[in-house]
Amino acid sequence: MRLPGFIDGHLHVLGVGYYQTIVDLSSAHSIQEVIRILSSKKDEKIIIGRGWNQDQFSENRMINKTDLNQISTTIPIVITRVCGHVLVTNDKMLTMAGINESTSQVLGGSFDFSTGIFNEKAMSLIHKKMPKLTKEDIKKFLLLANKTLIKNGITSVASDDFSSFNVDYELVIETIKEMYEENKIQVKITQQVNLPYEKLQDFLKKGYANKRIHPKFKMGPLKILADGSLGGRTAAMIAPYSDDINNYGIKSFSDNELFKMMSLADEYGMDSVVHAIGDATSLQVIKTLEKVIAQSNRKNHNHAIIHAQLTTKSQIELMEKLNIGAIVQPIFMNTDIKIIESRLGDRINNIYLYKTMYEHINLGFSTDAPIEPVNPFYNIYTAMTNRSIKYPFLDSFNSDECFSLQESLNAYTVNNLPYVYEDALNEDDYIIINRDLDPDDPESIRDALVLKTVIDGEEVFSLK
Ligand SMILES: [Zn+2]
Repeated sequence: MRLPGFIDGHLHVLGVGYYQTIVDLSSAHSIQEVIRILSSKKDEKIIIGRGWNQDQFSENRMINKTDLNQISTTIPIVITRVCGHVLVTNDKMLTMAGINESTSQVLGGSFDFSTGIFNEKAMSLIHKKMPKLTKEDIKKFLLLANKTLIKNGITSVASDDFSSFNVDYELVIETIKEMYEENKIQVKITQQVNLPYEKLQDFLKKGYANKRIHPKFKMGPLKILADGSLGGRTAAMIAPYSDDINNYGIKSFSDNELFKMMSLADEYGMDSVVHAIGDATSLQVIKTLEKVIAQSNRKNHNHAIIHAQLTTKSQIELMEKLNIGAIVQPIFMNTDIKIIESRLGDRINNIYLYKTMYEHINLGFSTDAPIEPVNPFYNIYTAMTNRSIKYPFLDSFNSDECFSLQESLNAYTVNNLPYVYEDALNEDDYIIINRDLDPDDPESIRDALVLKTVIDGEEVFSLK
């Protein structure tokens, strides 16, 4: 059957490509297995891995630098957790980054020299010492990502690419533009502008706000990362984690800092889309946006919260009043389903209120790839069932919050329009899939395959 091309409301295009070039640790079920996989890479100058998850380790503990030192003390090693908010390094990398017992902590993050574990903004201490991305790297990642996206029937995305790497944002813009001009990539990109305050000022001064760089590539809203993840226990909570009762998570910014960034963007006609997972953070973001909206000269806005996993019913009411949308990832349940009960206790009956949001505010779907796979049919399956594909034996939860097929398709197309290209949904962007989607058969929807993807009338993918 024919469907409109899917629009993914938040992911990381460069990350999707990059993840295909580094060591995948997502299948490791023990620390020993991580060590074994990484040990096969000892001919590299630096070993970079991603996707590990201590919740599936048989040792039942975090991996740390002592484990990584067993692999090598002469090659730097950096491995990032599945959520992207926690990393672990070996001693060689710590030395290269100039970090020792007396290095001071970073605001909005933390690290422990004795374990080599870094989270949130403290990860930048390591990131900024990693090799800088070259134009060739960016091209390679773009090619790989474009291929993955069109194969999965995604024709348009909102993508956050300026801050995930040690890279100059203008080099990213220039390279993406070149790749379009050479017709090497076709997926339409709206850039979610993730820059620290000083760089944002530079960006605005140079006239980049909402700028259309190419017919398929434009600058979009300001993207802010306001807290961490549930898995990493860094999402900021009103009440502490049930399995770490002194831990409330971490807000990345003070109220003032948030307001300063958002109101500056607003002056230049830019919306804000803000990563907020914990309920303390979503409240902070809503209250700050309320102030920004009150003083704004603009008639319309498309501000949104990205993730909104713990956003409460009363917070959703506030969002409705202020016309704040949400960009959510049902597929996060795929991984989170294993930990939500221990992290949240009784609160699990009041989280992932995505269907409630859908009924009250504008809500779009996304995958946050490469955090989760970009496949829209996996995401729709999870939205329709609240079940995990990775852990199929675990029960569904909050079944009141499940979506119908049609609602899922809306969330993946029209509802994402405010967050991407105004012309992202048109007759000339469509896909052909290998079956008729049956609204009563989520399993068959999950397994649907894209046969053909067409962007601007051009066939860019066909299944061989
Ligand atoms: Zn993201």
